[in-house]
Amino acid sequence: MKRDISITVLVTNTVFGPKFKAEHGLSLWIEYGGKRILFDTGQSNLLFSNAGLLDVDLTKADAVILSHGHYDHTGGLNRFLKIVPDARVYLHPKALDRKFSQKDGRIREIGMQSSTRHTLLERVREKTAVETERPTVVFPGVTVTGQIPRISEFEHYSGDFYLDRPCRTEDSLMDDQAMVLDLDNGAVVVLGCCHAGIINTLQYIRTITSKRISAVIGGMHLSNASESRVKKTVSFLNDFNIEMMAPMHCTGFSASVALKNAFRSEFVECPVGYRLHLPL
Ligand SMILES: [Zn+2]
Ligand SMILES: [Zn+2]
Repeated sequence: MKRDISITVLVTNTVFGPKFKAEHGLSLWIEYGGKRILFDTGQSNLLFSNAGLLDVDLTKADAVILSHGHYDHTGGLNRFLKIVPDARVYLHPKALDRKFSQKDGRIREIGMQSSTRHTLLERVREKTAVETERPTVVFPGVTVTGQIPRISEFEHYSGDFYLDRPCRTEDSLMDDQAMVLDLDNGAVVVLGCCHAGIINTLQYIRTITSKRISAVIGGMHLSNASESRVKKTVSFLNDFNIEMMAPMHCTGFSASVALKNAFRSEFVECPVGYRLHLPL
């Protein structure tokens, strides 16, 4: 069956023109095979005003997928679930953990709001939220990876994330997951923050799908990565024969430039309001 996908950027860090607003966060609206999926919900309620401007009818959502539990991916979830109570939620159980970061001596709580956590715990109990520790089929052709094994030698855990306020217990962010959409000639990979590492993520996806990876879209969490890690990442990505590379959100300026230089015509910039149609 021939399948077309459209992906509309509701929230990311960049915007062109005065019409939309941006924020540090991610939210994507995906239409695939008659199904509508909200992938992450940004940091605030910004996704609702941007969706209105883009004629995206959020009430038609069949499912909402959370890439992980950080505040910049879960901020609009509570309001969304009030508007669309029948949408099934997919999340890794560790997304519900309290989460903290420590940078320059400053400790911040960076997990989801406690009201959102309560809503989700209730939904897990009611079985209207699905916990995805392992690869899980959301709809035919749409899979979430669940937990991603950390295999790569150079995609080191950053060390700034913790599970407790005193910052004694590291959070290895095992809740981080990606979504895979099957097309006839390949798989489209949609990333949230990609804390697991882009190479770990793509190598794992290779083991759970027989399709080649044809497109990679989303946050790649390389904003604080060393030059050598970015170089190794780009050279690894070259082995995948990717036809569309669309970094956004937390990929970072230097890494985005390196990817643009490496992928050239396959590189797509995706600010808020951009709508991608695949196959291209
Ligand atoms: Zn994150
Ligand atoms: Zn993020």
